[in-house]
Amino acid sequence: MEFDTQVIHEISGQDKATGATIPAIYQVSAFAQDSAEQLEKVFNNRAPGFAYTRIGNPTVDVFEKKIAALEHGVGAIACSSGMAAVTMALLNIVEAGDEIIASAGLFGGTIDLFRDLQPFGITVKYVSEVTKEEIEPLITEQTKAVFTELIGNPRLDVVDIKSVSDFLHEREIPFFVDSTTATPYLIRPIDLGADVVIHSSSKYINGGGNSISGVIIDSGKFKWSPGRYKGFKEYKMYGKFAFIAKLRNGLWRNVGGCLAPQNAFYNLIGIETLGLRMQRICENAQALAEFFEANGIEVNYPGLKSSPYYELVQSQFGGLGGGIITIRPGSKEKAYKLVNNLKYATIATNIGDTRTLVIHAASTIYIHSSEEQKKNAGVFDDTIRISVGIENTNDLIEDFKQAIESIK
Ligand SMILES: *Cc1c(COP(=O)(O)O)cnc(C)c1O
Repeated sequence: MEFDTQVIHEISGQDKATGATIPAIYQVSAFAQDSAEQLEKVFNNRAPGFAYTRIGNPTVDVFEKKIAALEHGVGAIACSSGMAAVTMALLNIVEAGDEIIASAGLFGGTIDLFRDLQPFGITVKYVSEVTKEEIEPLITEQTKAVFTELIGNPRLDVVDIKSVSDFLHEREIPFFVDSTTATPYLIRPIDLGADVVIHSSSKYINGGGNSISGVIIDSGKFKWSPGRYKGFKEYKMYGKFAFIAKLRNGLWRNVGGCLAPQNAFYNLIGIETLGLRMQRICENAQALAEFFEANGIEVNYPGLKSSPYYELVQSQFGGLGGGIITIRPGSKEKAYKLVNNLKYATIATNIGDTRTLVIHAASTIYIHSSEEQKKNAGVFDDTIRISVGIENTNDLIEDFKQAIESIK
């Protein structure tokens, strides 16, 4: 089954009782049982069924199963936001004293989170490029994970998943990949060796910018040896489901960052058009990036031949460079004027919507970052991040053309 067929037909969530063609919204907190004995069994995972929506909900369940199938994982857990997903995925495996190695070009919120983990004894060390050469000197006995984004938001660096996974697995270190900007339409990181995949499903998966959510998908392939990952001792018996079982029965249910059924439903509607949208978004982004390059505007887009990541875009993503572009019109004043003069693009802090969104990164999403962090993320005083939408290509180019004229 090709992606566009799989996304519709695998885990369709059709309701057998009524014939409803799309999953129902179980907008409810608790699920009644026939007896105290039955509730005891369901509550303690000894019988199938649902007890309480923080722990499990049929609508959320369909979303989790669908995304697990699309990403070629053994299971998935949905969270209230992308940030909750990043937090839960990592806290499931680390403890005080442990170290994580991460890309310096990560999403600003994730960098902020890693700073928040420091007082709990979890240290994050940064590499400027996620390559085995840069990772190797930072590895210690305490290194418990390497964390990256696949197409960095907003630096737009692309990681060679297979090469880094192979290197890490020889050292018994799992590879966590935030694949929000790539989506399973461009790549299934698990096929190339990633161990845990994370999405802010608020973005391309939802696709319409109508709700916040996140999801964690496990490959089931990493051996969480209890020698190195102490918390996994009592979960070894779950075999390839150990990571998901530990998370579901532990931190995830106890922290309570669960996904609302209504939002799971919106994601299930949105994901059906993921392939159509990503194809159009990537084609629009490629055309727009080429337009900027041809018109002397400094542009960063991994799908351009001039990008150092062009080859990886061909080999890993089948030639699609994703939906985000950054441009540098020359000064903060020019950036503001350009943004203000756009007619179709919306000024907003989000990505992965149907509409094109623009933001001046330094004054917003990177306002709390140091100069060093901004530089690492490829954010300069004049950087505009464009999240390309599904509008007509020529209209988009025309819009940017007239806005560029206005700053000349
Ligand atoms: C938006 C985003 C997040 C955070 O997701 P939320 O749903 O906003 O919490 C994490 N990683 C990446 C790459 C993102 O773009």
